[in-house]
Amino acid sequence: MTAISPRAPAGVIAPGYSKTGIRKSKTSRWRAAALITLNLFMIAHIIQWRIMGKTVSPIEPSETMQTLQGGFVNAGFIFFSLAILATLIFGRFVCGWGCHILALQDLCGWFLKKMGLHPKPFRSRLLVYIPLIAALYMFVWPTAYRLFHNPAHAPLIPKFTNHLVTSNFWQTFPPIAVAIPFLFVCGFMTVYFLGQKGFCTYACPYGGFFGLADKFSPGKIRVTPACNQCGHCTETCTSNVLVHAEVKQYGMVVDPGCMKCMDCVSVCPNDALYFGFGKPTILVPKSDAIRKNYSLTWPEEIIGALVFLGSFLAVRGVYALIPFLMALGWAAVTTFLTVKMWRLFRARELSFYRFNLKSSGRIKKAGWAFAAFACAWIALNAHSGWVRYHEFRGNLAFQKIQVPDELALAQANPARWLPPADREDILQGKKHYEAASSVGFFVNSEALPKQAWFEYLLGNAEQAVQLLGQAAAHQKDESKALSLYYRGAILNRLGRYEEARASLDEALAERADLILARQEKGESLWQLGRKDEAISVWTDAVQRNPRLALANNELAGAKRASGNLEEAAAHEEQADQFTPNDSSYHWVLGRRLQDLGMTELAEKHFKQAGQVDPGNEMPYNR
Ligand code: SF4
Ligand code: SF4
Repeated sequence: MTAISPRAPAGVIAPGYSKTGIRKSKTSRWRAAALITLNLFMIAHIIQWRIMGKTVSPIEPSETMQTLQGGFVNAGFIFFSLAILATLIFGRFVCGWGCHILALQDLCGWFLKKMGLHPKPFRSRLLVYIPLIAALYMFVWPTAYRLFHNPAHAPLIPKFTNHLVTSNFWQTFPPIAVAIPFLFVCGFMTVYFLGQKGFCTYACPYGGFFGLADKFSPGKIRVTPACNQCGHCTETCTSNVLVHAEVKQYGMVVDPGCMKCMDCVSVCPNDALYFGFGKPTILVPKSDAIRKNYSLTWPEEIIGALVFLGSFLAVRGVYALIPFLMALGWAAVTTFLTVKMWRLFRARELSFYRFNLKSSGRIKKAGWAFAAFACAWIALNAHSGWVRYHEFRGNLAFQKIQVPDELALAQANPARWLPPADREDILQGKKHYEAASSVGFFVNSEALPKQAWFEYLLGNAEQAVQLLGQAAAHQKDESKALSLYYRGAILNRLGRYEEARASLDEALAERADLILARQEKGESLWQLGRKDEAISVWTDAVQRNPRLALANNELAGAKRASGNLEEAAAHEEQADQFTPNDSSYHWVLGRRLQDLGMTELAEKHFKQAGQVDPGNEMPYNR
C-alpha cells in the first residue's frame, strides 16, 4: 500500500473543507437526500397498504426467493433483476444510493462520528466471501436442490404467476419485535464493530451478487494524470477502498466494494477522478503491488471462519425468530468479538476506538468492560446454539414420522397402533423439544404444534390440545389457522364438540379457505344436534372442493338420515369417485362415519378396506 501523503491544503480550515483539511464531499448530501427519500417511500408504501389493505408487493430483493421457489413474480424480483442489470452496466450504484440497510449504516456512522468515534474497517481475507456464499445459498441452491434431489418431482422452473399486488404485505417479513433488533444488529452493531460498511462487506447476500456484477461493469471510478497520490480519496471512502492505490495501479477503482457514492470524486483536490466507461475489472490483469493490511493473521482467519459458521448455525432460525440476514450480521459481530477477546488475553497492548483495553500486559477497566460484553454475547450464542440443536433434532424427528395425519385423526389415541419406528422417533423428538423449551428464552411457535402432534400420537390428547392453543396464541395467518384446525379436530375426537366448533370457527376466521376445518366443523355441529347447520357447512365444503370424499360421504349419510335417498345416492357416487382404492383410507372413512352414527356407510367402507387388502394389519376395531 502506497503511503498517504500529507493533506492539501495543509492545516487550512476553509469553507468547503473539513477539519482534517480534506475537501467536503458535495455528493454526500445528495446521497443522504436519496436515501432519506427512499426510506420515506418505504414508510408511505406501508401506510398505503395499512389504509387500503392492498398494495404493490414488497420491493425487496429477498422476495426473489418466492419467485424462484414458487414462481410468484413480485415487485422484489423485478427490482432485483433490474438492479443486477444496472450494476452490470454502471457498477454498484444501487447499493450506494438505493439500499435502506446502507442508509442505516450511514446514519450509525454519522452518529458515531458526532460522538468522536470513527469506525475502523475490520479487514478479513476469508469472511469477504460470505455475501457471495449467502447469495448462492439464497438464490441458486433452491433450484440446484430441485435439480439433483427432487423427491416431490416439482418442476425445475415453477409455473410463473402474477404476485405484483398483495394484501398480505408483511407475510415474508419478520414480526416488528424481531425487525427492530434486526435493524439494530445489522445497521448499528456491524458498523460499530466492523466498520462503516460492516454489514455490506460481511453479511449482505445481495451485495454478493452486486459485487460480482460490478466486476463485469464498464462503468468505473477512473483517474486522469492530475492525480498526485495525496490519498484524500482513500481517507474519505467509507467502503474502505484503497482508492489512491487502485487508481495508480489500474487507472480505475477495481474493488467490488466500491458503491459509487462519488465521495472520492468530489473530495479530490485535483479533480483527478471521474465516473466513466472503459475496461471492466474482469479484463484487467490483477497486480500484487497493492498490499492490504488485514486485521487477522491466517490462523485467526481460520478460527474466525469457524466461529462465524458456529454462530450463524446457532442463531439462524432459533425460536423460529431469527431470520437469515440477521443471523449473518450477528455471526459477523460474534466473530469480531471472539477474535478481539482472544487478543485481549494474548496481546500486551490493545485498544478499541479511543479506549485502551490493555496496556503493558495489564487489562484496563475498559478492557474488562469489553470482556464482560463479549463474554455475555458469546454466552448468548452458546445458549442459542444449545436451544437450536434441540429444535433441529426435534424437527428432524418430526419429518421422519410416517403415519399420515388423516389416519392418526381417525380416532382418539392412535398410540396403540403406531409402528415401532415412529414411536421411537416421536419419543426422541418430544425429548428434544422439551429440552429446548425448558431452557429457551422465547416460545418457539413453530415447534409447539409439532410437539403437540407428538403428544397426540403418544395418546396424550389433552396435552396436545393445550399445546396447540398455546401455539395459536403466538401465531398468525395460516400457521395459526392450522393449529386451531388440529386443535378442533382433536377436540372432536375427544367428544368436546362445543370447544371443537369454537376452535374451528377461529381457524376459519383466520383462513376461510381451510376446507378441512369446514369438514370438521360440520362434524362438531352434527354431534351437537345442529344437523341443518352441519349439512350447510358440508355442502359449502364440497362446493369449494367437490373431490372431498369424507364430506361427500357425510352429506350422503345426512341425506339418508333425513330420507332424501336421491341426493344421498348422488353424494355417495361423488364420494366413491374420489375415494382412493386404499384400505387405510377406507378404514379412516369408516371410523369417521361410524362416530357420526352413519353406520351403514361406515360398514360399507370397513368392508371395502378388508376387500382391498385382506392381509392389512389395520386396527379394524370398531
Ligand atoms: S485521486 Fe485525487 S484524492 Fe485520490 S490520491 Fe489522487 S489526487 Fe488525491
Ligand atoms: S471508491 Fe469512491 S465511489 Fe467508491 S465507494 Fe469509495 S468513495 Fe465511494
